Amino acid sequence: MTLPIDEQRLWNRHMTMAQIGATPKGGVNRQALSPEDVRARQLLTAWARELGFTVSTDEVGNLFVRREGTDSNTAPVLTGSHLDSQPTGGKFDGAYGVLAGFEALQAIHETGVSTKRPLEVVAWVNEEGSRFQPGCTGSLIFSGKARLDDLLANEDPAGMKFGDALQDSLNALSDIERRPTGFEVDTYIEAHIEQGPRLEAEGLPIGIVTGIQGMHRYSVEVIGDEAHAGTAPLKTRKDALKAAAEMVAPLRRRWPMRRTQCASRLAASRSHQARRILCQAGYFSPSISATRYKRPLIA
Ligand SMILES: [Zn+2]
Repeated sequence: MTLPIDEQRLWNRHMTMAQIGATPKGGVNRQALSPEDVRARQLLTAWARELGFTVSTDEVGNLFVRREGTDSNTAPVLTGSHLDSQPTGGKFDGAYGVLAGFEALQAIHETGVSTKRPLEVVAWVNEEGSRFQPGCTGSLIFSGKARLDDLLANEDPAGMKFGDALQDSLNALSDIERRPTGFEVDTYIEAHIEQGPRLEAEGLPIGIVTGIQGMHRYSVEVIGDEAHAGTAPLKTRKDALKAAAEMVAPLRRRWPMRRTQCASRLAASRSHQARRILCQAGYFSPSISATRYKRPLIA
């Protein structure tokens, strides 16, 4: 049987969803538990209710859209992803997994087919972790890998507690039925846009994820002495930027590209005491991420 997937409808929903938190560059800023994140979940709720699906949420704000099965006591087939974004997120990251699942649910519904198991679409809370650490909060708590009580005091950069932001968003979604957190799932599948350029470059429409890369992050401070760049004798200079630059090549040798599919990366960020161009840098703070598909290689 071919499902009547409506590509245009799916596209239109992405465009409508992307208006929430839209940024001038065409992406979205819809950070976890922000008013925009709440509005995204309200929009999904409205679409679901129009079609007669049941909507529920749990104590951490994960949102579930359910099409009932003929045996409502069986564990559901679950699909979904996330609606929160990085501050400079894209339209499709996360939203695609939720909206593609929702389109599938609607298409199945329109065929009139009944399934034994309930079918559910989930929007997990705070997948990105850009506002509150840790990322994947909603799915961690759902799966019992973290306890909500342990995370409530975590703060965002503005000093807002996760527990307070969560309570605000649950209050805004208070018309949605609350269900217990975590339940048995028969099958889980998640669609996600490609996060690198390879499938697109090779013209491949889809790939199967077989693993997720590990990451070590280091925050490095290189402290030198500020000095006048023109008059300080070379041998007396302690230039933090120069020292940091000299670290790069050895680090790249330490984490070379080998048989793995992921690269080591070095990213230099702010050099905030070196803004005066006639000063040598007294302080330089690069951040270094080492990413590897295979665990032993980033140890
Ligand atoms: Zn994502």
